[in-house]
Amino acid sequence: MVVRTRFAPSPTGVLHVGSVRTALFSWLYAKHHKGQFILRIEDTDQMRSTPESVQAILDGMAWLGLDYEEGPIYQTDRYERYQTVVESLLTQKKAYRCVCTKERLEAMREQQIQDKQKPRYDGHCRQLDLPAGDQPFVIRFKNPEEGIVAFQDQVYGEILIDNRELDDLVLMRSDGHPTYNFAVVVDDWDMRITHVIRGDDHINNTPKQINLFQALEAPIPQFAHLPMILGKDGKKLSKRHGAVNVMEFKSEGYLPQALLNYLVRLGWSAGDQEIFTHDEMISKFDFRHVHRGAAAFDYDKLVWINQHYMRHTPIEQMEKILVQQYALDGVDVKNGPDLSDVIPVFAERCKTIAEFCDSTRYFYQELITYDAAAVSKHLHPEALQLLDAFCQELSSLVDWDKASIHACIETFCAARNMNMGKIAQPLRVAVTGSTSSPSIDITLVLLGRDRTLARLQTAIKK
Ligand code: GLU
Repeated sequence: MVVRTRFAPSPTGVLHVGSVRTALFSWLYAKHHKGQFILRIEDTDQMRSTPESVQAILDGMAWLGLDYEEGPIYQTDRYERYQTVVESLLTQKKAYRCVCTKERLEAMREQQIQDKQKPRYDGHCRQLDLPAGDQPFVIRFKNPEEGIVAFQDQVYGEILIDNRELDDLVLMRSDGHPTYNFAVVVDDWDMRITHVIRGDDHINNTPKQINLFQALEAPIPQFAHLPMILGKDGKKLSKRHGAVNVMEFKSEGYLPQALLNYLVRLGWSAGDQEIFTHDEMISKFDFRHVHRGAAAFDYDKLVWINQHYMRHTPIEQMEKILVQQYALDGVDVKNGPDLSDVIPVFAERCKTIAEFCDSTRYFYQELITYDAAAVSKHLHPEALQLLDAFCQELSSLVDWDKASIHACIETFCAARNMNMGKIAQPLRVAVTGSTSSPSIDITLVLLGRDRTLARLQTAIKK
């Protein structure tokens, strides 16, 4: 059997980390079994589905490298198929037309609540075998009236539901739109899905869907329901917890592999291991180690993992990511040192790509911004005099490299019997605009002779 899994988001909002974690587990399961992964866009809710949300899903999947063998498949392209299937269910008397009005259904519901019963359809139209007529109708499924639906959830274990608890669910609305429970079953059947992996908010839908699979004489897939992701405070994941468009993590400077690594550990573990390469994630992933309890989203840990990836991502890959990010900021990397020289120095120091770009901007821009506090503390008249003298020494350097610059500073300080900090900090502020940069000799090497001397002149004249 070829394992086939799918990710089936509804394009009705942002693609947030909760959905991405579902996509990731589904993708990993398919990859682990050398199977296929399908992207299906469940866009039957015409009122709430938007093209922007579809785009956010496609962008997010592409950014994270969650590639699919098939798709994106849109449910709205499959209406004819749903119609054919529902008609065959009608012919086989496994479904029926229901003309109950909204008012009748509401009154019934209120009565049931008053009587402390579980609100459900009372089967009024079930035996009437109504033809299509002038009255608007929905098509309902004839759910079995007795017996138990049982399934072995890959995460939660055995789940049993009495059919008497289940409603005759609506398959087609009066406006001809299929319902979620119907479209999902037809699709999972047609797309030969072997494992349905989704959030545990769908666990109550599964018995209804299993009855439908049976009525269609379709093979029943395995099910794995994934526990929720909560905020660190145990509350429902909200914007404040990171339930934002996953692309915002990109603009905040997180690396895709870091986010995936963080998410794989959100509700799944392989011993104590925290860092997983792409291949390790695939080879180790299983359902046995998916936790049943809700997982908590923790920004600090994400930052920690991102820092790891900042240090370990190959330079060529970092270069590509950085060039894109600089371009968004309007910075041209051709106008400064080679990124392959800057990355080894800065990747260690920065938590995110955004921080990296911020702290290296002065290498690539003609005009730099000066931190006012740093200027008043370090560029006072006495310091400027020192800088002026030092600038002359520097300009006569033959080789512009770390050793020569270091020696030049040492000699300059020794001659004046002062420690190196006395010149290093004013220098740093004069050429970078702030007090934080890597060691001053490396900073000057990366900045280059011309730019260093020009910036010193500017500072001295100021
Ligand atoms: N469209 C459903 C959702 O976004 C998918 C449910 C499923 O995977 O079956 O929640």
